[in-house]
Amino acid sequence: VSKEVSIMKKAHEFASDYFHHLLLHTEEGENALHYLEERGFSTEIIEKYKIGWSLPNWDALTTLLARKGMDLQEIEKTGLIIRKENELKYFDRFRGRIMFPVLDETGHVIAFSGRILEKSENEAKYLNSPESPIFQKSQVLYNLDKARLEIRKQRNVVVFEGFLDVIAASTAGISNGIATMGTALTSQHITKLNRLTSNVTLCYDGDKAGMEAAKRAAIALQAQNIQTEIAIIPDAMDPDDYIKNYGEEAFRTKIMEKPHSYLSFMMIVSKRDKNFNNENDTLQYIQEILEILSERNSSVERDLYIRQLSQETNVSEDAIYQHLRKLQGKKA
Ligand code: ATP
Ligand code: MN
Ligand code: MN
Ligand code: MN
Repeated sequence: VSKEVSIMKKAHEFASDYFHHLLLHTEEGENALHYLEERGFSTEIIEKYKIGWSLPNWDALTTLLARKGMDLQEIEKTGLIIRKENELKYFDRFRGRIMFPVLDETGHVIAFSGRILEKSENEAKYLNSPESPIFQKSQVLYNLDKARLEIRKQRNVVVFEGFLDVIAASTAGISNGIATMGTALTSQHITKLNRLTSNVTLCYDGDKAGMEAAKRAAIALQAQNIQTEIAIIPDAMDPDDYIKNYGEEAFRTKIMEKPHSYLSFMMIVSKRDKNFNNENDTLQYIQEILEILSERNSSVERDLYIRQLSQETNVSEDAIYQHLRKLQGKKA
């Protein structure tokens, strides 16, 4: 490990201890602590994920780092502190936010995500550390350090859209959950997961954006030959909302234990904006699903889903089979 990297990680470790202390043991952290309590975070969870609070001041952390004699010029490369234009002075990136440390696979802090307390028009809900020598978003999976053993044991990993969903799910007993840091699931992420297991369950937000993201993730996983199942959260909720509304038991039994197959999920997504009284919609639906089916060589699967397509659209199974053969002919 280079000297630069070890300075960067040391600064992050220090910052994470400091933010955590501010949240749990100071008056300045009380509002944030109440907010988290309202959202159902126990002290145990706050400690497990080392959640913290950053003061709204411009340079509370910077001042402490300087006083400890830490190399601010190196630390600036991680974006934890920011250099003032044309000056040799620095200030804090994260101010007045609930702090979620992001750990690497060996449990070292390499980045933060900070959430604002109140809804705001001019401030983003989450502020993340930028890319840096110690933080590459296309590689990092939130909670992988804690989930790794469980993923191996259960031979399955659950991918969530937000790290708060990972935390909420862990309170509901789902301890093999991970999330990307606000980016799409990349082929590097998938390669990393593939070393631990070849079974992935996606559990993204149930809103339109989440369903679309889940679709892209599912396609990327299939492309790397991963067994993919998709758990769907109803009514545009996310896993955290669902647990708050219906409880941990319901989340386990009704959502996590009842995932959809890749094809059944793709049918649900494709159906969402279609009306089978409309000829074009019906055709487009059949076309979309057959394109996926034509890539597969299981005749059982074909039979199963063609029967379902026929029942849903009132087009005969024969006609659908004919269309499938035409599609396959084109490719051959
Ligand atoms: P909350 O329940 O507090 O609203 P959430 O996890 O439901 O949080 P989403 O809006 O669903 O948040 O976003 C999911 C993920 O996308 C977040 O965990 C975060 O990583 C990323 N994200 C969301 N908004 C932003 C943003 N403004 N900048 C960077 N990343 C973001
Ligand atoms: Mn979302
Ligand atoms: Mn969400
Ligand atoms: Mn949420």
